[in-house]
Amino acid sequence: MLTLRSMPEGDTIFLAAAALRRALVGEVVSAFRSTFPLLTRIDAEQRVAGRTVEAVDARGKHLLIAFSGDLTLRTHMRMHGSWQLYPAGARWRRPGRDMRIVIETARATAVGFNVPEAEFLTAKQLARHERLQSLGPDLLAEQFDPIEARRRMRACGDAPIANVLLSQRVVAGIGNVFKSELLFLARIYPFTPASALSDAQLDGIVADARRLLALSVRLGRRTTRSSLNPAERLWVYGRGGKACRRCGSVIQAAKTGEDARLTCWCGRCQPNMR
Ligand SMILES: [Zn+2]
Repeated sequence: MLTLRSMPEGDTIFLAAAALRRALVGEVVSAFRSTFPLLTRIDAEQRVAGRTVEAVDARGKHLLIAFSGDLTLRTHMRMHGSWQLYPAGARWRRPGRDMRIVIETARATAVGFNVPEAEFLTAKQLARHERLQSLGPDLLAEQFDPIEARRRMRACGDAPIANVLLSQRVVAGIGNVFKSELLFLARIYPFTPASALSDAQLDGIVADARRLLALSVRLGRRTTRSSLNPAERLWVYGRGGKACRRCGSVIQAAKTGEDARLTCWCGRCQPNMR
């Protein structure tokens, strides 16, 4: 059984894709349901039931489920969506009212809860999909181009590094948690303009991001510290007002931007140099 309790970032989507792939690929869909009118309309015309699941892939924070006959379901979890996997017929651990998408096979049921964004795409639409095509290098992909990642960071000019790291057009896979943790590890004040950072600093953040996302995938839980205590897995994220684990100063927290993204940092470990 799979649950994604933490806020979806590259690691959770990667793990969800791996679990859904194991359970669904090669299986015939026996039932499909959704509360998205757009999905049910396409399902009514093109019937998802009866198709075989051909592939499940994570691309940054997008999850793609490909069915036979040129139909791919793209979902994006944003802040609160999750996919859960159940043996066929098992009771869900979330209320039915949170259900947005159900994919059933003879053996398993995959349920998308509170998925905020979903659409069906053909291969042609997928290839032209603006948000998928504009994704930066995927931090969890085996092939990763660090020079391209740095070029995209530099293209952000004076934007605060915290925003640059969140932009999926720069590198794909970092969310709020990793953003705050990575900047703590690099000892960089989150609102420093990207242009004020050296190549070595930018490359270091990206290398840490690759290492820590891969570690979280391997462990099946998110961590940026070596602590085995589940309550101590993060340095600063979600710890506003508490003592810094490194220096004891009070951790700062601020919500910025249109969607009030939370940023946490230590004022002493990550001083504003400007
Ligand atoms: Zn500190």
